[in-house]
Amino acid sequence: MTEKRTEISELGEFGLINRINSNIQLKNKSTIKGIGDDAAVIDAGYDYVLVSTDLLAEGIHFDLAFTPLQHLGHKAVSVNVSDIAAMNGRAEQVVISLALSNRFSVEAVDALYEGINAACEQYKVDLVGGDTSASHSGLVISVTVIGRVPKNKIVYRSGAKPNDIICVTGDLGASYIGLQILEREKQVYLSNPKMQPSLEKYEYLVGRQLKPIARTDIVYELDELGILPTSMIDVSDGLASDLFHIGEQSKIGSRIFEDKIPIDQAAYETSALEFKIDPVTCALNGGEDYELLFTIRQEDFEKIKNHPDIHMIGYVLEKPGEHFLVSKQGTPVRLQAQGWNHFRT
Ligand code: ADP
Ligand code: MG
Repeated sequence: MTEKRTEISELGEFGLINRINSNIQLKNKSTIKGIGDDAAVIDAGYDYVLVSTDLLAEGIHFDLAFTPLQHLGHKAVSVNVSDIAAMNGRAEQVVISLALSNRFSVEAVDALYEGINAACEQYKVDLVGGDTSASHSGLVISVTVIGRVPKNKIVYRSGAKPNDIICVTGDLGASYIGLQILEREKQVYLSNPKMQPSLEKYEYLVGRQLKPIARTDIVYELDELGILPTSMIDVSDGLASDLFHIGEQSKIGSRIFEDKIPIDQAAYETSALEFKIDPVTCALNGGEDYELLFTIRQEDFEKIKNHPDIHMIGYVLEKPGEHFLVSKQGTPVRLQAQGWNHFRT
């Protein structure tokens, strides 16, 4: 008898997570939210405690040919803090585990922790533990972040309602273009090691890829403005994919407008001219922007309309699963969520 074998690529990352989740029953009253949002939610009496974890594997999530270890350490913390921000919470502690092959020296670990410590300083987070192991295949970094949010301020992916306004912070797509530039320069260098990459021109784009910043400032500002988003997620997989996540959890659809999607000028020009990719596609399907995507009630429009870094890109529709992008010409096109999927490369 042959045992059934299913390739993970057949399910994909999200299919696999759903399969794991389908066999889990929560047992503790203190577990408010398990799998399925940016962070798990635990009842801690007065507040909710938030927990999120991310694993970064060499060759999958980062390439040390063009990623300085300091930046990598900083990014590993930032992407976790971003998940806490996406729940409208504040990160307070991180736990970091490493698996290291013998390619790495003490000085390399020092450089990694230089970045980790700088990020902990920046976000006012304490590094409180971790684990260290040997590895046969490069560097693996696992970061777990613990945060906190008052119970009446928590924001899930699931609260969006029809007619809510869809907002996104900062700009989208630049991180993906930054990665394309780094990959291109690596190939140039490999074919001719005398060629030094010239990256000054692309400082912003490359910076967005190598050293993203979690939007903790927005969590603070929304609170100041007296706005509690109805739903929120951080843009790690691309606008389309993350909009789908909100859609699935909130059981709604959406209509967003192409000309409202914030795209940085350099990202716009570089993607179109040098890579012949549509910059809007980069924003929709690129990922790793770590901006916040959220929905607000119509009545909060006035409070937010002049904010320079929050862009209203569309609104929530009643019909679940129906997501439309209205082109610059006014034609609605059904959105496809491609996003990052490491099992489908
Ligand atoms: P994000 O992009 O915000 O980091 P993910 O897409 O990685 O979120 O994860 C989605 C949800 O699935 C989260 O609730 C996460 O904790 C959960 N999850 C991911 N991988 C696993 C796993 N191997 N076992 C259990 N839960 C998982
Ligand atoms: Mg997230």
